[in-house]
Amino acid sequence: MCRGGGSGHSVDAFAVRGGGAVRFFADESERDRYRWSLKERPCPACLAVGFLICHGHLWGYGDGPLRKIRGYRFFCNNRGRRGGCGRTYSIHLARVLPRRQTPAPLLSRFFSLMLSCLSRRRAWFDLGTGVRLSTFYRLWEALCRSAMEIRRRLTQLVAPPAPDLYTDDLHWTIAHLERAFDGQDCPVSAYQRHFQRPLLV
Ligand SMILES: [Zn+2]
Repeated sequence: MCRGGGSGHSVDAFAVRGGGAVRFFADESERDRYRWSLKERPCPACLAVGFLICHGHLWGYGDGPLRKIRGYRFFCNNRGRRGGCGRTYSIHLARVLPRRQTPAPLLSRFFSLMLSCLSRRRAWFDLGTGVRLSTFYRLWEALCRSAMEIRRRLTQLVAPPAPDLYTDDLHWTIAHLERAFDGQDCPVSAYQRHFQRPLLV
């Protein structure tokens, strides 16, 4: 059992805190606003202002055969006499699970099915996806590793549901996630966008 709790501070989407890099755009329009304001933004690594430039896309596969844009790279320009530090950083789209191919909306649907049927195999079957069952077993294991931290962050937004309504910590965590982002099409994306952190480690 890994019951979490506690409190913390909410995260402004594109604040640079302690030199840490921001990580998620809600969508392409948010990316565009970010790009238009690059010259006024500090580098997440060296904090110098005025040297950030776009540095290409992050490509990858989702639940289909076609490569898709997963995010964007930015470069702190040190070429010529420019005063940047030469480092790059990346920002993913919130519908992407970093280091995983499964799209966040598919994981949100899987979570929703798990709340009603409890069996991973049954939820996967009802999902009707071409993604392998073993992928969802691995995602479930990742949720187990991440659940305490997820609940700690969610508690900043909303109190968890009563734990005795759920069979285990992971179902309780999913219910807390859905409560925190009630009305959102994809609670997993909403979590990543709000906290600027990947849902799963
Ligand atoms: Zn820099």
